[in-house]
Amino acid sequence: MPHHRVLPDNVSTQLLAARYAHLDLFAGIEFASLAPLLAGCPLLDVEPGELVLEEGDANRTVYQIVSGRVRVALEGHEGIPLLTLEEGACFGELSILSQLNVSANVVALEHTQLLAIPDEALWSLIRSHHRFAVNLLEVLSGRLRVTNDRLRDSLQAQRHYARAARLDPLTGLYNRRWLDEVLGREYRRSTRDGKPLSFLMIDLDLFKRVNDTHGHLVGDEVLRILASRLRNAMSARGIVARFGGEEFAALLPDTALDDALTVAEQFRVNLGENPIATSLGPIPATVSIGAAERSECHSPRGLMQRADAALYRAKKLGRNCVATNATPP
Ligand code: GH3
Ligand code: MG
Ligand code: MG
Repeated sequence: MPHHRVLPDNVSTQLLAARYAHLDLFAGIEFASLAPLLAGCPLLDVEPGELVLEEGDANRTVYQIVSGRVRVALEGHEGIPLLTLEEGACFGELSILSQLNVSANVVALEHTQLLAIPDEALWSLIRSHHRFAVNLLEVLSGRLRVTNDRLRDSLQAQRHYARAARLDPLTGLYNRRWLDEVLGREYRRSTRDGKPLSFLMIDLDLFKRVNDTHGHLVGDEVLRILASRLRNAMSARGIVARFGGEEFAALLPDTALDDALTVAEQFRVNLGENPIATSLGPIPATVSIGAAERSECHSPRGLMQRADAALYRAKKLGRNCVATNATPP
């Protein structure tokens, strides 16, 4: 428990001013007029680590920091620090004004002296000293700013994590999770509108050899460059995702199977003619591609499976080719 001290009733204005003139709430106030109100307000001595206000408390006191520092934190006093308050600052005013329980924990960071102003004294000060009311408004607007800053930071963090959750970190392409979501949406849209929707599964041929010959880091570089070339090649038609490992998928809305096959073939030929320009030099690479169209299937999953079966055929046909399910093996 904090140690209490109360100034005597006849305390001099000079002594009050010497002790309290630096407190934010008293800025610009004539101390002679404060003496009667402050004489009854206790001065508390708080030890480092001591909890002054606890989340959920019904608080009836405003505390001004005469000396020392406190930390304001959420979720237990070892929790996320919101801010540190220094000499001159105050806390506790929000729970009085809003008549709600305390919303954070306040812990002394060092030996701290607090001037405790009970709520009756606070309301008297607000009524009798215009300048005090203005000071309090300034403190409150500062609190709003801190809250807004925190809110902005947490929205930014939320956006960052939402983005990270749908992107593949190696290639920057959308990931499988995102693909599953969008495929479902596009599938329903194309069925509803009676428009075609094509799906390509693209797999690097004998990629294990690239890793075995040049190492995984160069393998990663090949995947990154291939991803970017694939994205560029498909950008006018649709969206590319990394399906997993050395497999990619392209979702091509409003694209009939014939057009999808043409796009796929162009990419395949271009890749065959232009090796991947890695930091080790050009590395030849080829892909096998399986293509399928929505009208041949009954579900988004069916469309994916059909393209996968077509890819399997392309591999069987000797790799470096584009196939559909109708392609004879
Ligand atoms: P196929 O033509 O039949 O597809 O042969 P493949 O060698 O490409 O296929 P396989 O499935 O045998 O090997 C795929 C290789 O892709 C093995 C794995 O180490 C590699 N791979 C998967 N993900 C990554 C990655 O993120 N980075 C690197 N460097 N390699 C990867
Ligand atoms: Mg492969
Ligand atoms: Mg594969």
